[in-house]
Amino acid sequence: MRNDLCVKCGSAYVMAGVEVRDRGSNGAVPLRVHIDEPEPPDHGFIWKRGSSSGTVRAWICAACGYTELYTDNLAALYDSYRKSHP
Ligand SMILES: [Zn+2]
Repeated sequence: MRNDLCVKCGSAYVMAGVEVRDRGSNGAVPLRVHIDEPEPPDHGFIWKRGSSSGTVRAWICAACGYTELYTDNLAALYDSYRKSHP
């Protein structure tokens, strides 16, 4: 799909990187995935929980409507994921 050909119907009419919106407290915001990291076993009195987010974008076939979603910021997301899924 990211090569601009629909994997379902073969059409070349693919809309690339379309924003997917979610409802935020102050209006529409881009849809994101989020991973919180666990509390480290030893940390100082003041510490900040680690986390990562990635924005989700859509590739949409204009002929049949087939839609694929892709997330960015993958390296940071996977690092947070490994810390939260040891
Ligand atoms: Zn299609």
